[in-house]
Amino acid sequence: MDKEKLEFFKKKLLKMREAILDKSKKLKEDSYTLGTDGIQDMADAASNAYNADILMSISDNDLNLLKEIDSSLDKIAGDSYGICEECEEEITEKRLEANPVARYCITCKRMMEEKRI
Ligand SMILES: [Zn+2]
Repeated sequence: MDKEKLEFFKKKLLKMREAILDKSKKLKEDSYTLGTDGIQDMADAASNAYNADILMSISDNDLNLLKEIDSSLDKIAGDSYGICEECEEEITEKRLEANPVARYCITCKRMMEEKRI
C-alpha cells in the first residue's frame, strides 16, 4: 500500500479512536455532574485520555474496537497494514475503507463465518 493511502487510513483510525475516547470522557463528565464530589478530579481525568477511570467507563464493544484500532495503528507503523492475517494477501482498499480495522480479506472472513455456523 502506498504512503498516501496509509496516511489516509491512519488519520481515519486516529479519528475513530478519538471519537471513542471523547464519548467516554463525556460519559464520565456526566456521571460527575450527578454527584457533589469528584468535580476536582474531572480536570485531571480529562487531561489524560488513557486514564484508568475513563477506560472503565468505555463499553466492552468500544474497548474492543479501541484495541483493534491500536493494533491497526501498530500495523501501519510496522508496514503490515492491509495484509490479511490468515492468507497474507492484501485486503482490498474498498474493504478497509468500510472497515479500517479489518484483519482478514473478504475470502478468509467469509470462510471463518461459514465455519462458525
Ligand atoms: Zn485472507
